[in-house]
Amino acid sequence: MYSIDTSIYKRPEELLQNLIRFDTTNPPGNELPLMQYIDSLLTSAGFETTFLAKDPARPNLLTRLKGRGDAPPLLLYGHADVVTTANQKWTYPPFEGRIADGYVWGRGALDMKCGLAMMIASLLRAKAENLQAAGDIIFCAMSDEETGGNYGAKFLVEEHPEIFKDVKYAVSEFGGYTMYIDGKKFYLVQVAEKQNCSVEMTFHGPAGHGSVPVKNSAMSKMGKALVALDEHRLPVHITPVTEKMIKIIASHLPPPSNDYFNRLLDPAQTDEILEIIRDKTANFFDPLLHNTVNAIIVQGGEKINVVPGEVALYLDGRILPGFSDNDLIDELRQIAGKDCDIKISMYEAVKSHIDLKLFDMLSDILKQKEPECIPIPIVIGASTDAKQLAKLGIQTYGYLPIDLPQGFDFMKSVHAADERIPVKAMYSGTDAIYQVISRYEK
Ligand SMILES: [Zn+2]
Repeated sequence: MYSIDTSIYKRPEELLQNLIRFDTTNPPGNELPLMQYIDSLLTSAGFETTFLAKDPARPNLLTRLKGRGDAPPLLLYGHADVVTTANQKWTYPPFEGRIADGYVWGRGALDMKCGLAMMIASLLRAKAENLQAAGDIIFCAMSDEETGGNYGAKFLVEEHPEIFKDVKYAVSEFGGYTMYIDGKKFYLVQVAEKQNCSVEMTFHGPAGHGSVPVKNSAMSKMGKALVALDEHRLPVHITPVTEKMIKIIASHLPPPSNDYFNRLLDPAQTDEILEIIRDKTANFFDPLLHNTVNAIIVQGGEKINVVPGEVALYLDGRILPGFSDNDLIDELRQIAGKDCDIKISMYEAVKSHIDLKLFDMLSDILKQKEPECIPIPIVIGASTDAKQLAKLGIQTYGYLPIDLPQGFDFMKSVHAADERIPVKAMYSGTDAIYQVISRYEK
């Protein structure tokens, strides 16, 4: 389908265009043709590769850049699948990979074919320049991140943990992009993520005939709980990474913003300040300071003339590092759950040990390029393959440096229509990843 030209590493935006042109919408994913393209690039440059697959149509691709053996291997990994574009209105076709207005447009431009392109380009450059890193650089292109990694990260961690032997640190999504506050440019480096937790609340009340008014029904109890969840946040928690992040931000902002950010760290004032800075920060900080739930599914009532004695509410819960599903249940009880059963139907616990050792090096790479920028460590509200790698004790840094213009909201573009990345950002991001490889040490 494509001519294989290993000098494409000098044109990372072209590499990204090629990756976007493989439709890897998951489900079904169908990552094989894309993986074969990456494989051709790597093998043409002299890399040895391995395919590991639970389903041959959905393989994972692995290679290694041999290092000097002075440090443990460093893992670069990224997912090749993307989310659907159904029911979205795009300016340009989402799998065309068009360049227009200084951007590469297409599904995966940000999440995260840009990252795969940056990693592949860096490896090809390292090979072309005979770079030997302190340790082996393991690169793994994975399938199936967007629906939980059963064919990708989860499969590899459970069935092939040997490929990650001795790895302590990894670089992947979902950080590295820019965010502006008061005109100051911050790079968000992901060092941890919240834990997924699905919660089921069941409400009970008198059942009966639809013709007789029923008071204090299961339905009305659920209604009260929903209103309570809308009106109250769960308790404030200042976790160590978020504290560090907010202190760095405060120290770089002029008044009154610096004062607002300092006061965010006082739990008695946190929620009030979040309202004050909400518009300016797109509500970015709220989920980093609370466990959260969103009501997603309500279930109850079968027949129009029968009052149900039981109804259920399903919540999407997200738990901060260092807390557990039991903490979430306690907090929900306080606010909305005194008169119901609460059950956890799914919980993906992630160990809370966060190792910031590589943060200074990653930060320094960005500062050398842009002395005015301010890298900050963040916990992200969403969830990625990092939780799977964490089971092997691997610390992932979400570090795909993406220099976005002011006013461009990364989170609003990811998974949405018109996902795109500045062409220039592909060059600076790729060089940053290359620097990671060359500067990585024990
Ligand atoms: Zn992603």
